Amino acid sequence: MTVAIALFTQDLRLRDNPVLHAAAAGGREVVPLFVLDTDLAATGFATPNRQAFLVDCLRDLDASLRAIGGHLVLRHGRCAEQTARLAEQLGAESVHVAAGVTAFAGRREAQLRERLGERLTIHQQSLTVAAPGAVTPAGKDHYAVFTPYFRAWQRLTARTVRPAPKALRTPTGLTGEPIPTGRPDSPALPPGGESQARRRWRAWSPDRYEELHDDLAADGTSRLSPYLHFGCLSPTELLQLALRRGGPGAEAFVRQLAWRDFHHQVLAARPSAARRNYRDRGDHWWHSEPEAQAWREGRTGYPIVDAGLRQLAAEGWMHNRARLLTASFLTKTLYQDWRIGARHFLRLLVDGDVANNQLNWQWVAGTGTDTRPNRVLNPLVQADRFDPQGSYVRRWVPELAGIQGRAVHRPWLLPTHPAGYPTPLIDPDHLSHRLRAGRGLLRPTPPDPIR
Ligand SMILES: Cc1cc2nc3c(=O)[nH]c(=O)nc-3n(C[C@H](O)[C@H](O)[C@H](O)COP(=O)(O)OP(=O)(O)OC[C@H]3O[C@@H](n4cnc5c(N)ncnc54)[C@H](O)[C@@H]3O)c2cc1C
Repeated sequence: MTVAIALFTQDLRLRDNPVLHAAAAGGREVVPLFVLDTDLAATGFATPNRQAFLVDCLRDLDASLRAIGGHLVLRHGRCAEQTARLAEQLGAESVHVAAGVTAFAGRREAQLRERLGERLTIHQQSLTVAAPGAVTPAGKDHYAVFTPYFRAWQRLTARTVRPAPKALRTPTGLTGEPIPTGRPDSPALPPGGESQARRRWRAWSPDRYEELHDDLAADGTSRLSPYLHFGCLSPTELLQLALRRGGPGAEAFVRQLAWRDFHHQVLAARPSAARRNYRDRGDHWWHSEPEAQAWREGRTGYPIVDAGLRQLAAEGWMHNRARLLTASFLTKTLYQDWRIGARHFLRLLVDGDVANNQLNWQWVAGTGTDTRPNRVLNPLVQADRFDPQGSYVRRWVPELAGIQGRAVHRPWLLPTHPAGYPTPLIDPDHLSHRLRAGRGLLRPTPPDPIR
């Protein structure tokens, strides 16, 4: 009996998994392998929140594999080394893995190729709906602007959704290491795994998505991002489920899936954008560690900003509108380097993703793909528009929980300043005056530039 290895990475699911599907084709014995990669651990990317979520995903994957006759084989070490060793030991004729978009995934694929040669198959369209590079503008290797990308993306024909294997045979006697435990930093982290992802999709409806997606208090977005990041759900299947549902809500949701693909194709073409400005605009960021730390702790004195950062600390997740306005506050109001914020998000976000995080941060900072790089989000206007009753702030900032209505957004106007809540880092009059005067960045000439 021939053996194939399905090397799981960011595709921790049975349904619509091209890697598992290809490995299981032809009735071969399959080794569902996951390597706890010491090279990844060395990068600092495997933070406690994502590690705890990953542990849930692996347990769920193992349980689902056992239900069809197989089991997960876990190894600890360098991914290519461990995979090649197992392939030799079992005389595996093929190894399947999903294509990634980061520089790290590129190196891993090169190392796998070096050791496995022709036995390795790298599957596109596993992490994204469209493979990076599937659509490109004439003469370029990727789209740098979302709208034309979205038009081209909509014209693509999505691949067919693959069923989960009904039965699987893993070579007898093959054991792995036990699945480790994980302890998250955030007390209200969502549970991981394919079963949870499907439960979430069934419990949520995109029907009111268009109307509610920017309403901070309504919390009406899908919250599927961690499941998409770890591949507990296939974006292709999700697209098809949404298209089948139809209507303006589902269409708006599909557009967000396209944003995800967009950022992945930018990063695949420019892996350096994870660290370097995608478009350098000569920013000389202002550096103040006390201000950066106040921002991280959700103690800027701007309630809407602080609410977002505290949601992040508590849940390991933040509403998209809050991500936008907290990021804009750091980069455009405090005029601090986007990498400071991106690093903090990546430490805590359970959906923390190099493509989506770094490129969204660059979009907000004006160094990325936004066609209006001078856009500044006024935190007070954002608060009035997207949290008109102040409920989101009261939910996350206990010092302000007793203040009724939208007055909660301007505690400095109250007769007594709420006990324990900080005064604003930036004088609100100064902020409003500068924004009304149409000045983009509040601090264009920092005294202590970092270059
Ligand atoms: C500064 C900043 C940092 C971000 N960091 C991340 C990150 O690390 N990981 C991450 O997955 N998303 C990130 N996003 C994008 C977005 O905020 C989240 O994907 C979204 O809030 C997740 O919630 P949801 O699943 O309820 O989204 P929904 O609104 O239900 O959208 C459905 C899916 O579409 C995708 N999506 C939605 N918005 C975007 C977007 N702007 N860019 C790319 N994909 C999107 C996500 O996969 C999401 O799960 C960031 C946005 C900003 C502004």
